[in-house]
Amino acid sequence: MENKLHNALNALKKECLRITPEKPGFANEHAAEIRFAGPAYAESGDKAPICSGCGKPLSFVFQFKTEQDAKLKLSGALHVVYYCFDCVPIGRPDDEKGQWLIKSYSEASAGKFVGGTGVNPLFKPCLCSMQKVFVLPDYETIENDYPEVAALCEELDPEDPVSVYEEEGLEVGCEMEPFTRVNGYPAWIQGQGTQVCPLCKHDMEFFAQVDSESAVDLMWGDAGCLYIFRCPKHPEQLAIEMQCF
Ligand SMILES: [Zn+2]
Ligand SMILES: [Zn+2]
Repeated sequence: MENKLHNALNALKKECLRITPEKPGFANEHAAEIRFAGPAYAESGDKAPICSGCGKPLSFVFQFKTEQDAKLKLSGALHVVYYCFDCVPIGRPDDEKGQWLIKSYSEASAGKFVGGTGVNPLFKPCLCSMQKVFVLPDYETIENDYPEVAALCEELDPEDPVSVYEEEGLEVGCEMEPFTRVNGYPAWIQGQGTQVCPLCKHDMEFFAQVDSESAVDLMWGDAGCLYIFRCPKHPEQLAIEMQCF
């Protein structure tokens, strides 16, 4: 039984990029890197994005890239995440548009960086360390999407299948705690979220999650998390969902 669970989790685990805010501060040479807060990456001609809800500038929160080689050298588009902490959009279909923004730059580079939009003085700018790690879906997702795996955990310990799952997850080399990540599986706070592509109406895929980070003084509601989705067919279509306790 345990062997069966071991194999099932090995087959299910996915690699993600774990991002940890580490070095406080900002310098222009790091403008196009993965980082939190401070001045957003911007190029000549960019204007500071304004919230459509309250008319104040949106706060720059986080920027990330998704493609990386074995040495974690990053390539591909840079995605720059802005959010209004006064209007607090949570990603419902009826949310007013323009209370958050993800701007993508296909060829961002420190040399093209200008200005400093989106600075929110409440947040501490931080550079990040990155690590490739494996993750699994949270247990609620297992119950919904992989009932055969949940059944194995329940057979091993009907009283506490969640602990069985978490321990076996560690055994197969996965990180079982929530953290800021790109790709992999999301760690939901209020259960599985879905976002639909406005162009093709298909479900979007999980892309990244930005946790509350004490090093940045970043808090989503009450110790919440921002989830970012992307349409597999229309990679320029991104969506958010915010969940908190
Ligand atoms: Zn606003
Ligand atoms: Zn689409």
